[in-house]
Amino acid sequence: MDCIDFLWNRVTHAMAEEMKLREAENETCYCCNRHSSQWIDPRYEWRVDSYIRLEVPICAPCNALFHGSYQFLGIEKGTEEKPVAPGKLGMLVGCGLIVTQTKAILLTNPGWDKRLRAAKRPLFTMVQVSGKSAAEYAITTIRSLPDAAFPLLYISDIGRKKAELIQHMEYSLSRDLIYSCSSDPAIKMDMQLIDTMRALATSNKSGWKKLERFIFNACHGRIAPNDAGLREFLLGWPEALAFAQKLPADPHEKLKLLRCV
Ligand SMILES: [Zn+2]
Repeated sequence: MDCIDFLWNRVTHAMAEEMKLREAENETCYCCNRHSSQWIDPRYEWRVDSYIRLEVPICAPCNALFHGSYQFLGIEKGTEEKPVAPGKLGMLVGCGLIVTQTKAILLTNPGWDKRLRAAKRPLFTMVQVSGKSAAEYAITTIRSLPDAAFPLLYISDIGRKKAELIQHMEYSLSRDLIYSCSSDPAIKMDMQLIDTMRALATSNKSGWKKLERFIFNACHGRIAPNDAGLREFLLGWPEALAFAQKLPADPHEKLKLLRCV
């Protein structure tokens, strides 16, 4: 099942009662680009695209990211006393989401928390935890889940680019390899590697700072990977050498993993 359909099945279908859904005959969703024969729900809504100012068909699961709802998602603009615009799931910049086979947790931040809690029928359990603590919270939570919770979906930042988010959503199939999704390509988080990284960082703080700087500079093309300084340094610290050899080849992935410490 596509991740956006999973999200609909598990959580967001509750909003269908508020949507102006109609049965599809032969439509292609403007957001996920899937033909109606591939949708888990055969319904869609006509929605005005804000750029081209034309009505376009959006399948029900994608529509859940665009749909504004006071009762399910609280307030986007204004206050509880004077609401100006309803909350929309696909506009929660800086908020994260964990949807397992049994739970749906929205990771809010101080900017959104109060406005989201104005929802009378919230779709998610809400936890206010943001920035670096949010990633730590998500990892700790996911790793403590039973096998039955998988596959699950972890979105580190919902952002506001809905089509890109849908395109990059991937399931985490086990607690050993967690996919952190956003509107950018998902980051594969190898938990064994992250544990090793954390152990290195606590056992040798100054050494870790140096290694981190080396990797950071190498990823930005400021030193050649075969730089004599780096090689000598790593030869003197075999655990760090073994760790560096297991890092993903892609420099962007390397940098993103470093941020998990
Ligand atoms: Zn769609």
